[in-house]
Amino acid sequence: MTGLDLDVLRGQLNPPQWQAVSHGDGPLLILAGAGSGKTRVLTYRIAYLVQHLGVPPWAILSVTFTNRAAREMARRVAELLGQGSLDAWVGTFHGVCLRILRRHGELLPVGREFSIYDSDDQKKVAAAVVQEMGLDSKRFKAAALLHRVSRAKDEGLGPDDIDLPAHSPLADVIPEFFLRYDQHLRAARALDFSDLLLETLNLFATHPGIAADYRNRFRHLLIDEYQDTNRVQYRLARELASTHGNLCAVGDDDQSIYSWRGADVRNILGFAEDFPGATTVKLEQNYRSTAAILEAASAVVSRNRSRHPKTLWTARDGGAPVTVREAPTEEEEAHWVVAELQRLHRNGTPYASCAVLYRMHAQSRSFEEALLRRRIPYVVYGGQRFYDRKEVKDALAYLRLVLNPDDPVAFLRVVNSPPRGIGKTSVERLLGVATKRGKGLWEAVGAALDEGLLATRAARAVAGFMALLDGWREAVGTAPLRDLLGNILRESGYAAALGAEGGEQAETRLENLEELLNAAEAFEQTEQGGIRDFLDRAALVSDQDQAEERADAVTLMTLHAAKGLEYPAVFLTGMEEGVFPHHMSSDRPAGLEEERRLCYVGMTRAMDRLYLTRAHIRRVYGAEGYLRPPSRFLRELPSQVHPGVAVVPTPVAAEPVCTAEADLPPAAPAEGRYFAPEPGEASFRPGMLVRHPTYGVGSVVQVDGHGQRAKVTVRFADSGTRKFIAAMAGLEIALDA
Ligand code: ATP
Ligand code: MG
Repeated sequence: MTGLDLDVLRGQLNPPQWQAVSHGDGPLLILAGAGSGKTRVLTYRIAYLVQHLGVPPWAILSVTFTNRAAREMARRVAELLGQGSLDAWVGTFHGVCLRILRRHGELLPVGREFSIYDSDDQKKVAAAVVQEMGLDSKRFKAAALLHRVSRAKDEGLGPDDIDLPAHSPLADVIPEFFLRYDQHLRAARALDFSDLLLETLNLFATHPGIAADYRNRFRHLLIDEYQDTNRVQYRLARELASTHGNLCAVGDDDQSIYSWRGADVRNILGFAEDFPGATTVKLEQNYRSTAAILEAASAVVSRNRSRHPKTLWTARDGGAPVTVREAPTEEEEAHWVVAELQRLHRNGTPYASCAVLYRMHAQSRSFEEALLRRRIPYVVYGGQRFYDRKEVKDALAYLRLVLNPDDPVAFLRVVNSPPRGIGKTSVERLLGVATKRGKGLWEAVGAALDEGLLATRAARAVAGFMALLDGWREAVGTAPLRDLLGNILRESGYAAALGAEGGEQAETRLENLEELLNAAEAFEQTEQGGIRDFLDRAALVSDQDQAEERADAVTLMTLHAAKGLEYPAVFLTGMEEGVFPHHMSSDRPAGLEEERRLCYVGMTRAMDRLYLTRAHIRRVYGAEGYLRPPSRFLRELPSQVHPGVAVVPTPVAAEPVCTAEADLPPAAPAEGRYFAPEPGEASFRPGMLVRHPTYGVGSVVQVDGHGQRAKVTVRFADSGTRKFIAAMAGLEIALDA
């Protein structure tokens, strides 16, 4: 190990940071504002523990909010230690729990080879339960019920613990829905994300010896972004830290922005009580932002009533003033942002130093369009993930079925894809047998075949399908992953069916499958992992992790995804009432305060330059645009930042007006306008840029047929490739295509 000079380490930290880094044993809380070096302290502390206190890396567990943050932290620590890699456990709560569950798979009620259900899979189960319960699916939305249940699970509550007002229509259905939903998952030998945490707690509760092993093993537990942990995570942290008492938690209550996903800020605010003898360290110097940016952000967040006042200062005096920009329409807003990006770029700011943030994914559309037009490279976080593409999900579903033949969601995905003549009725019958007899799917299929419950043709097809699965299963563990997956795609006829489809879309899909084979091979070589680990990794890649590595590209992402990151130039866009603060949150004081914290998070991502922009008129969800008042957060800025906004009343004029700030022409230039094709005209051509009311802008990859009956295949930046009937789709053609 190359020596890590303590003085060098110390020289890169201020005194309270050093105090935290070199803190010995006992619980430690660092509660401090944005950009004050919390994540840096965690990173340095791990290096200090290893190098100076001789703690073996395997005895350290560090929990971050995203996998990407985990990789970055492990990389930084290894660098500080002068090593190639770090042998500590660094990951998200979900990743860590999954690792534990896989190690003790034989003890789990769901067995070792359980599947992980992502939100898509969960929705399918929820819809099936709604149907099974005979609920009116208009009144009881599967997604809403699922949301309720997931929140309850994040709090560690069971079906009967959910507190609902007696008169709520949900009170009658939620407990049963919850029960059935969980039963479905258990029968499928599947766990959802909340289950990964809950099952770990269960494992610890039912096997105290195992719990003790982990408690003894992890001499130090470090958690970043502690303000956004949920109750179950809190319980896990408590459990794991209870032998050594060495829990180091860092966070900022002003940045608690995930309560809608079960995060509970009481975890951080109650730390000192929960962990008696805790040392609390405050960090007050912000190293990230200029004074102008910090002042503006502090002014906004200080409006919140429920917060702990914090002092935060920066040595970076002055700096470019925070800019507020108003534009007549969302297109003009995007146009202005892109022009400014180009100006910055000309003056030496790389595109990769710039981030455009927005409240909702859908807002990326206008920016993407403007960036495309100027040919500026960009990446969108949280767009469609590689692992969410249809063909990739299909291929992974095959793998899932090979490992877990009881997984009905995977079964449904691929049993008739490519078409094998196994119709819906047959599939429903098979699933019905499994539910009615309380059997696993695989056993139920066998029974259905033995008892002749399927029509002859379907029975033959199902038997053939099962034989294929059996064959592949035998190859698990012996054949390389790439070969196994390749065989599956070939022998199932999946690849051939795509090949026969022809066209650019099928071509792209085949390319993606090729990419998946490459990924499998690379995974097997670098991670030494098998098919199970490969599936696990695919399941854990989250929205926030999603971004292709691309040289010098502007980053587009939601405010939520920006947590923990920093960029020299940041654009906070869509600063309008109803958009931000979001209309769903602004009518409750607690909701509004969370939106305000989100604004604080967004503003404090900026190092050198911060822009806040808004449009007078914006279309949302494809609806007609209408006049929107400026976000109240603009009014909350210090008056020297934007005196205009503080006094601008809610506009009442029907026509958009340009304020003095907006020097863009009010009349929109022709560029960027869209028109619908003439009826009967064969107007779509491959390569054309079109706009869809829901999916936004995309490019046409294929046109089959003519005129209004033509089928148009469009590739969207973040919704994948979709096929439309021209006459029905409401597609508009971009003029400048
Ligand atoms: P957030 O609340 O946004 O997560 P944070 O408190 O985790 O922020 P960091 O990301 O750790 O803050 O640090 C912010 C920036 O300040 C980083 O670029 C970091 O390298 C730098 N920094 C932190 N402490 C120091 C220091 N003592 N000297 C120089 N730079 C520092
Ligand atoms: Mg941080």
